[in-house]
Parts: sequence; structure tokens; C-alpha cells
Amino acid sequence: MKDFTFTAYRRYLEVVKSSYSNILRFDEFLNLDSLPDSFFLIRHDVDRRPQKAVFMARLENEMGIKSSYYFRAKPNTFKKKIIEEISNLGHEIGYHYECLSDTNGDITMSMKDFENNLEQFRKIVSIKTISMHGRPFKSSDNRDMWRPSENHSLLSTKFGISGEVYLDIDYTEIAYINDTGRNWDSSLSNKRDKVISSVKCDFRNGEELYHHLKEKYYPKIVFQIHPERWSDSITEYYTQLLMDTTVNFLKRFL
Ligand SMILES: [Zn+2]
Repeated sequence: MKDFTFTAYRRYLEVVKSSYSNILRFDEFLNLDSLPDSFFLIRHDVDRRPQKAVFMARLENEMGIKSSYYFRAKPNTFKKKIIEEISNLGHEIGYHYECLSDTNGDITMSMKDFENNLEQFRKIVSIKTISMHGRPFKSSDNRDMWRPSENHSLLSTKFGISGEVYLDIDYTEIAYINDTGRNWDSSLSNKRDKVISSVKCDFRNGEELYHHLKEKYYPKIVFQIHPERWSDSITEYYTQLLMDTTVNFLKRFL
């Protein structure tokens, strides 16, 4: 089966549904008093082409699955109707922030930018969790705006945020599986999107991943999926493949 198509995605979810009983959104997960022995969290970063996110959100909804969609606050992704529709399908909407790279590393300005964007999102939906956008070609790591502990505590005290999904989750025992670079091997192309985990989970191909999911090889999983990388038409599949290959090639020189 061709990987990174909606058909393949549905096939992964079918097996996930039968193996994992705790499929949670990040806002639900971060509000738990104690962690279950097993869980499966699906995180989507909506970096571009938000219409793709709608298709994925509908597919998950049809299957009775809830996940979290993190939207960038950029004109081509911040689309009120799309955000509303995905939220109405039972999914969580989070803010995929990039304030530090947008303000060229100025922490004070980035905090202001964060506050303004959060306010825009909250005119549409409630926002409880956030995730940083990687911006591979910019020098700032967006998570650094929370490194000063006083800023990090503002997340809950001032902004009413339950957690930043990189900083506020302990990934030590979690398998972090992601499609960044359009492969299932994080050592190949992933510059910033990494977490500290002792669970090794790189796969040579989708079949290998599929069988690990089916056997419930990992009890705790964060499945990080970019909807725009997945397609159902052949032309689209090859256009996206070419783009991902080019970006992976360029990242080698960073
Ligand atoms: Zn991103």
C-alpha cells in the first residue's frame, strides 16, 4: 500500500483503534491526575494547506477518534471556518506558535505577539494547549521564549494554558512517532521536532510501523502527523514527495 495517503492513514487508525483504548486529546491528557498505563495521542501541526486538516478531521470523526490540531496564526492557515469545523467535529484546537522566530529572538516582543494571537484564536474556539512550530530555516527555537521560568509560569497563571506539548510532557517512556520529512525515521531529517525519549521508534517503512501498532509494541504513543503531507490523489502525492525531498536535501546544509 502507498504510504502517506488518506487510505493508508485510515488503515493506521483502524489498527490503533483496535489496539488502544485510551485515545486522548492533549487537553484531556494534560488534565489527568494520574497517567494511564497505556495511551495514544494524535497531534497534528497545521503548517499550511488547512483544507487538508479538514479532510483528516472528518476522517477521524467518522472513525470516532478525537485528536489535537495545532494551527499557525498565519493568514494562509488561520481560517475561522476551518478552525470552527474541526472543533465542531470533536477535536481540540491548539495554537502552533512561532513568536520568537517572528520577532527575531526578542523575548519581550514574542510574549506580546503570543498574547495577541491567542486572543484572536479565542474569538473562535477555546485554546488549552500549544505547540511550537519548528521553522527549520530560522535560528530561533520558539520554545526558548518559555525558558525563563517566570514566562513559563505565565502560561497557566496569565494565559490559561494547560501545557506546551514539548515542555510540559515527560516523553521518557513515550514512543514519539512522526511523519516529519515524510518518513518514519526521525534520524533522517528532523532538525527541531525532537523530544527526549528512551523509547527507540524509527521505522524503515509504513508496513513496519503498521505492525508495531497492531501488536501494541509501544504502550504509550504520541503520533505526530502533518495533514498536508498526506494525499489521496496520485499527482498530489508526487508533488508533495518532490517538495519533501527538496526540503530534506536543503536541511542537510543547516
Ligand atoms: Zn509546524
